[in-house]
Amino acid sequence: TKWVYAFGGGSADGDREDRNLLGGKGANLAEMAKLGLPVPPGFTLTTAVCTAFYENDRSYPSDLNDQVEDALAALETKVGKTFGDPSNPLLVSVRSGARASMPGMMDTVLNLGLNDETAEGLAKLSGDRRFALDSYRRFITMYSDVVLGVPHATFEEILETFKEERDYSLDTEISAEEWEEVIVEYKAAVKRALDFPFPTDPRDQLWGAIGAVFGSWMNDRANTYRRMYDIPSSWGTAVNIQAMVFGNMGDTSATGVAFTRDPSTGEKGYYGEFLINAQGEDVVAGIRTPQCLTESMRIKMNDHLPSMETAMPDVFAQLTEVFDNLENHYRDMQDIEFTVEQGRLWMLQTRNGKRTTKAALKIAVDMVAEKLITEDEAVLRVDPTQLDQLLHPTIDESYTRDVLAKGLPASPGAASGAVVFDADEAETRAAQGEKVILVRVETSPEDIHGMHAAQAIVTARGGMTSHAAVVARGMGRPCVSGAGEIRIDTEALTFTTRGRVIKDGDIVTVDGATGEVLMGEAPMIKPEMTGDFAALMEWADKARRMTVRTNAETPADVQTAKEFGAEGIGLCRTEHMFFDADRIAAVREMILAEDQMGRVAALAKILPMQRDDFAEIFRIMEDRPCTIRLLDPPLHEFLPHTEEDVHAVAEATGLPVEGLWQRAKDLSESNPMLGHRGCRLGITFPEIYEMQARAIFEAQALVEKETGVKPVAEVMIPLVATAKELEILKVRVEAVADDVDRETGVKPKYLIGTMIELPRAALRAGDIAAHAEFFSFGTNDLTQTTFGLSRDDAGKFLGDYLEAGIFEKDPFVSLDQDGVGDLVKIAVDRGRAARPGLKLGICGEHGGDPASIHFCESAGLDYVSCSPYRVPIARLAAAQAAL
Ligand code: ADP
Ligand code: MG
Ligand code: MG
Repeated sequence: TKWVYAFGGGSADGDREDRNLLGGKGANLAEMAKLGLPVPPGFTLTTAVCTAFYENDRSYPSDLNDQVEDALAALETKVGKTFGDPSNPLLVSVRSGARASMPGMMDTVLNLGLNDETAEGLAKLSGDRRFALDSYRRFITMYSDVVLGVPHATFEEILETFKEERDYSLDTEISAEEWEEVIVEYKAAVKRALDFPFPTDPRDQLWGAIGAVFGSWMNDRANTYRRMYDIPSSWGTAVNIQAMVFGNMGDTSATGVAFTRDPSTGEKGYYGEFLINAQGEDVVAGIRTPQCLTESMRIKMNDHLPSMETAMPDVFAQLTEVFDNLENHYRDMQDIEFTVEQGRLWMLQTRNGKRTTKAALKIAVDMVAEKLITEDEAVLRVDPTQLDQLLHPTIDESYTRDVLAKGLPASPGAASGAVVFDADEAETRAAQGEKVILVRVETSPEDIHGMHAAQAIVTARGGMTSHAAVVARGMGRPCVSGAGEIRIDTEALTFTTRGRVIKDGDIVTVDGATGEVLMGEAPMIKPEMTGDFAALMEWADKARRMTVRTNAETPADVQTAKEFGAEGIGLCRTEHMFFDADRIAAVREMILAEDQMGRVAALAKILPMQRDDFAEIFRIMEDRPCTIRLLDPPLHEFLPHTEEDVHAVAEATGLPVEGLWQRAKDLSESNPMLGHRGCRLGITFPEIYEMQARAIFEAQALVEKETGVKPVAEVMIPLVATAKELEILKVRVEAVADDVDRETGVKPKYLIGTMIELPRAALRAGDIAAHAEFFSFGTNDLTQTTFGLSRDDAGKFLGDYLEAGIFEKDPFVSLDQDGVGDLVKIAVDRGRAARPGLKLGICGEHGGDPASIHFCESAGLDYVSCSPYRVPIARLAAAQAAL
């Protein structure tokens, strides 16, 4: 097997198509080398090595060593330096690179190959002793931290003390001789911590670093990240070994990161930061404040330091040419790392850049206009779940802001919540339902779970490309970074700013679009669904086959869903309409009635209220189809709970209080989920369903007379297990329709169908379809009944199941395609065989989950239905599924 792939010097063994094998970073380094861009040469140990490593009890393939030695020898020839040679040392970086980019998860080691001798060699060769020792101390710090597990802080403390003693404020004030002293202290610290000295043999260093990269694939951080983003652990990571280039060789050297377009807004124009005389991650780590790449960015940020455009015009021109080249080649916005070594440009990384949703939309739409991509490609470019960000409120413009602090607008959107200073705390409190804002000096990969749990993130330090900014943009959390006015006291759990003290638990609002942190909870307004969003949605609507409906019953929700583009109602839960204050008494009266007469009398009170509810919905939905589910939950859910409730019912009905309590007891069930609910209620108390059917048909007649538009009702009978149940109830509903037709002179336009939510119903779909004009898959209950797992109780052990790998995803969030999905497919086949043209849809939570929507497309459903805020997500996901 070929385990090692070389790149550099205008050619490469692989290219960008080899992403699975070479990882994203390795594949793109190879691609850039092939494009003839200036890439320091190197080689990649493939992801297959990682897989083999874990399959063989953490040992390498036997021929790996030889292949690495060959590649190293070839690299030495290419750059004219020798690994470990004191007179002319080759130094390398060791960089991880998985298939999917996992920012900050895997650590990189730079300047590998240095020891006392090679450091001297580097000093002589470069004629710059300070540079050589600066590289050496960086190497010891990084290697010790990443490979040996001696924390970064150990070295930071030594350095801080050293600087304090000499009254230095910047690292750049430290001389060569002084770095030498620091290095001695560093090495002593490693020896103290580990009981063995810092490794001096470059080959030991190399294999140590390789082992650390492969080892980090299974560390907690990486596991958490993978779980969060559904990345299988079987993918593995690659390791890239690359000849070093140096951004820390004085004032004509620099290192930087850039995006070919603004990742926050999507605006066309280069966007990035750089640092003169610096190495590697200095920019991202926020050690010194970076400078702006372009002059326009500098002006916008009101920065006083010169931009690269003016400070290094020649390299800048070369760099922007590379940007254009890469963007045209990849046909997408690129996120780029580069280094300038004594005026010479080197490309170290490119990848499709992470971006906010707003930027994703703008870039996709702009690129269609630029003829770089097609409309369908644009539709495929935007992650549907990301749309969520846009659909939520921003701060009301007219609100007078009480600004606590201002930082950088690192990730747009706005959110309010209680201040929390710790990631674990954020996670715990969010799990208890509290909205929290995570406030940190800066964030690191250890904070990711807390960032995920928080509504928004604020950091005191760090730039637009800091860890917090990058991760927040990826997660769609509003973020303000580098709010330098904030002084955090993690002991007292407070932060001070502008003379005020904010305590843990105080409510603040974060505006990621302006970079402001506000006191209190600011009023929010609904977003506008226009511009790029509207354009992309139009293309999505053109591309999709399935229609998208909504699950809604209140007029407000129905209206919202319609504005989001819902083409009908897939599920209107009538029982929600029973709880309103003005009707619950009548509902209780109906339930507690001792006989049919009493029930009918109570139902007569409910009828006009239900009719008004439906009329309101029909007015909003006009001629769009509305699936209305007849009463589903067990009656006892509506029972009185307090003395007061019971007395109210007693007064209204004249029934004795005693008797009412007894009746309530009679109705209670030991397992209501599998008890007297759904169509079983309709069989026992047909007058309930008849009242509801009447309310629907009368509402249709009413609205049709009023507006001239004919409403379309789909009357849905829930929890059917047998064809007979449906047959009986259908006859009754039809009879009501005929009555209403006679009484009002308006013939209601309606279908009668059922929800498929029991395995038996799925299996006997053929018989059932004889009486049903449509099926709607109620995948919440179908999941419960297929697994025999109650949704309300699953939470207690679902975590263990996910942990143990028994479930890959929560089956209540993403449809279990193997099991529940099989039942759906069976029902589709048997249903359509019995009744060609049978209308099919899904109305469980899954109707808004992109992966489940893909399944629905392949199962041939006619529509998906989801909660109002997920309608745009479903429209886009349905389009992607169809493309
Ligand atoms: P990450 O995935 O965290 O970005 P990278 O492997 O890209 O890690 O490297 C971290 C930093 O080190 C980046 O700024 C990168 O540009 C720099 N770097 C990596 N390899 C080299 C090299 N051979 N020469 C100079 N700088 C390098
Ligand atoms: Mg890193
Ligand atoms: Mg990188």
